[in-house]
Amino acid sequence: MSSHTGSKRKPTVAIKDDVYEKAKTKAAEKGLTLVDYVNETILQSVEKDAFLKSYAPYIEKISTGDTIILRDNKIKKIVEVYLKEGRMYCTNDEGHDCIHIHFALGLPEVGRLKKK
Ligand SMILES: [Zn+2]
Repeated sequence: MSSHTGSKRKPTVAIKDDVYEKAKTKAAEKGLTLVDYVNETILQSVEKDAFLKSYAPYIEKISTGDTIILRDNKIKKIVEVYLKEGRMYCTNDEGHDCIHIHFALGLPEVGRLKKK
């Protein structure tokens, strides 16, 4: 086991080429440096994750891809959320406005849902 405790070295992380290009463009749009933009984005993602856990502690993300699969431990069911005619749709509530959709919209993976 190795530990960097006590080291004065600042942490660095590698950014993949395609991510770098997207992040650089977005940072420029917002008038931020890449470092500030990346740090703010990571922090927001961590905070959002914590928020979702307190907002709906009984909902768990199972998987994301073309659709978002959630487990609702309150109703003890697997729920699927996906884009239907350009709107978020929940298979459990058969509608466009419920806790599952609110939860799904809070996930960063929502941006990867297939637009039909
Ligand atoms: Zn629902």
